[in-house]
Amino acid sequence: VNARMSAAEAKLAETIRSGREDLVALVRDLIGFDTTTVGETAVGCRQEHALQEYLADRLRTAGLETELWEPDLAGYRPQNTPSQIDFAGRPQLAARLEGSGRGDSLLLLGHVDCVPVEPIALWSTNPFHAARRDGRIYGRGAADMKGGVASLLFALETLVRLGFRPRGDITFCSVTDEESSGAGSVAAVGHGVQASAGLCAENTGFDIWTACRGSVVFEIEIEGRAGHAECRQPDWKAGGAVNAIDKTIPILQALSGLGAAWSSRPDLHHPLLPAGDAVVVGIHGGEWEVTYPSRCTTTVNIQFLPHQVSDSDGIDVLREEVEHAILAVTESDEWLANHPPKCSWRPWVIPGEMDAGHPLVGLVSDCARKVGREAPIRGLDSWHDPANFIRLGETPTLSFGPGLLACSHITDEWVSEEDLVDHCIASALILLDYCG
Ligand SMILES: [Zn+2]
Repeated sequence: VNARMSAAEAKLAETIRSGREDLVALVRDLIGFDTTTVGETAVGCRQEHALQEYLADRLRTAGLETELWEPDLAGYRPQNTPSQIDFAGRPQLAARLEGSGRGDSLLLLGHVDCVPVEPIALWSTNPFHAARRDGRIYGRGAADMKGGVASLLFALETLVRLGFRPRGDITFCSVTDEESSGAGSVAAVGHGVQASAGLCAENTGFDIWTACRGSVVFEIEIEGRAGHAECRQPDWKAGGAVNAIDKTIPILQALSGLGAAWSSRPDLHHPLLPAGDAVVVGIHGGEWEVTYPSRCTTTVNIQFLPHQVSDSDGIDVLREEVEHAILAVTESDEWLANHPPKCSWRPWVIPGEMDAGHPLVGLVSDCARKVGREAPIRGLDSWHDPANFIRLGETPTLSFGPGLLACSHITDEWVSEEDLVDHCIASALILLDYCG
């Protein structure tokens, strides 16, 4: 036992350590529910309800007041939620352990959805029947982030069993849709889930993520004109064919130049995050192999920094910049000038950053050290639910969890049992101190 722990802390750590088999069983139970994402439009459901009910049962048993609800997001923050999203059979969960009155409240946060298991033939084990091998648990979501959810729950259960009664409220919240649109946490914030600060157990590998980028996907549709691909064509003004794919190429070049330009701009420098980028993630064009393509649609993923969002959470400036780069191409091409590309922007996930000087950050780092882990402050290039709690809900929230980021979304996804136990102890110590 680490010398820097008090006697009470050491006892807590020992209790969790001796409960390792139960913690592992909990992780395996969670992996057993198929909660692979149903995607951005979120039509239909898998076993989200059963998993949330399982968590709710355990939280109720631990004495928490629990609520499961299927949100209705009609008209709520349309800029950040897919228009057709449907939560039927996919409830969100919030459970509260009421504090004795004074003291800071803490939010424990996790997402229960995970990415698809394809290519399933490459898995060495059944992704929904977690295998234990060499001190690791293998299965979809083991790292991202059923391991983290289990760890937070087990820490809370252990504290309650030992008679811990917090001064500030503790809220445990598990959401869906992190892997697709982030709409689960938008809904949770909209429902009023909040605290003085929040701890999300994404698989940070014991790093502390205080910041993340936002992203938005948009489509550019370029029009061409169909015609026989093997016959000479007159000029387009004389009725000749126009190849929509050829017309797309300079636009792709302009887009790939954006990332480079952004990373050299001092106003887009961030200590924890790379500057934004524009990545072409899809291209679809052409109707027939002997026909000039009449249409080409390009899908682009744009990432951006927290300070590129306006106070009202808008991204107008960024959009204008991107569209300006496209416009510069179209102005120099007569066909494109006469047939301007159509850009359609989807809802975006909002970037977020909490103050690295917040007391929770220092506490997490201290508690990590007590279990022999260094917890450096870093940023997440991609996105995580804390951003919604920070930006839309004013709950400064960080991610700190077991499992490596490199294990996210891979075949044979795994989390180490030792990471789980250490994270669970650190989380219990955080709760004890922050809400105690
Ligand atoms: Zn995750």
